[in-house]
Amino acid sequence: MEILTKLQILSDAAKYDVSCSSSGSTRKNSKGGLGNAAVSGICHSWSEDGRCISLFKILFSNECIYNCAYCSSKITNDVRRATFTPEEVVSLTMNFYKRNYIEGLFLSSAVYKSPDYTMELLIKTVQMLRENKFNGYIHLKGIPGADNTLINRAGLYVDRMSVNIELPSEASLQALAPQKKKESIIKPMSLIKNGIIQNKEEKMNYRKTPSFLPAGQTTQLIVGASPEPDLNILKLSEGLYKRFTMKRVYYSAYIPVFESSTLPSIQTKPPLLREHRLYQADWLLRFYGFNADELLNSNNPNFDLELDPKCFWALENIHIFPLEVNKADYTELIRVPGIGIRSAMKIVTARRMSKLDYEDLKKLGVVLKRAKYFITCKGKYYGGISINPISIKQVLLDRPESYSTQLSIFDMFPDSLVRKEASSNITGEF
Ligand code: SF4
Repeated sequence: MEILTKLQILSDAAKYDVSCSSSGSTRKNSKGGLGNAAVSGICHSWSEDGRCISLFKILFSNECIYNCAYCSSKITNDVRRATFTPEEVVSLTMNFYKRNYIEGLFLSSAVYKSPDYTMELLIKTVQMLRENKFNGYIHLKGIPGADNTLINRAGLYVDRMSVNIELPSEASLQALAPQKKKESIIKPMSLIKNGIIQNKEEKMNYRKTPSFLPAGQTTQLIVGASPEPDLNILKLSEGLYKRFTMKRVYYSAYIPVFESSTLPSIQTKPPLLREHRLYQADWLLRFYGFNADELLNSNNPNFDLELDPKCFWALENIHIFPLEVNKADYTELIRVPGIGIRSAMKIVTARRMSKLDYEDLKKLGVVLKRAKYFITCKGKYYGGISINPISIKQVLLDRPESYSTQLSIFDMFPDSLVRKEASSNITGEF
């Protein structure tokens, strides 16, 4: 088969894998080498449906021996099949890189012949790239079930590796991807984590120790193919961050392409907004000090799709608001909708000089459109409505017609000009 035909098939098949982004890896070019990897070295771009397309993103093979129900590469699906050779991937990558078309490689693969066989081919490819002095960023997919030594070897050539968790529970894994075992996913994750820690220690003693996965590991899971609520998904992510020092968990909205009794119907829309809410909540876990159990619970196991997770949490915990901006500590401030990490830091610094009022907050860049319902400044509340979750939700969603506060007769008229005229009609004044 022509290499270009293979490229067509295998770059198309790779679009379902979202577990890649740049970069977090810094490596200077060596003498006679080709390019650098830099922390900001891989530019991000996103396709219309939100997939990352910044790297040269391909599958090594889509000839899979497994039969995961949700996957277009599964053995029972009738699609065009192809497998690259390591030489072909190296040649394509080097050529694209030299032409500045790409800034790195994301190489994934179906399970071709066996997990070990596939992993051997992937290692051969990345090893050849490095031997050819390719210094760019490489993100490699770890094949679940591959031998530990292979996972360890691969880590010496690439910047980042991802072993995809795929589904949020063991039961769903059994139902939809029965050939993959939880163990075969968790084990390499743990191996990678230990390898990274060990490598850091060795580097402290011997500066020339080769780097092992300098950009860490990530994983991906599919949202909406199985019945787990957001609470289970978020708790799983929390565990992954804590146990495996995961750099990122990627959430991929399930796109129904197969009619199957084990999957949502083919008419089901991909839960893209749900995916977005999970990314927002994930951000709160990683940078805002939230726990999964604070954001959701058994009474509310799913996010309200209308509200971002921080607003959702604030309305569920309205009893702790309003917070006085001149007194609340940093960890409280970052939990206020509309106050991010940067503005919380600015508030804490600025109020050392003098107490802040509402106008000061505007200057500091606080998003008062949201924050004003949850704070007081010098004891004064600027929300203008009663502090209850229903009223605040309505105004946040910009639904003035259903405000639960008393309507003014003038509010029935849309703009000030009409209002003026209406006023005169009602009062009889001109
Ligand atoms: S192992 Fe990967 S490529 Fe193969 S069917 Fe499962 S998800 Fe698809």
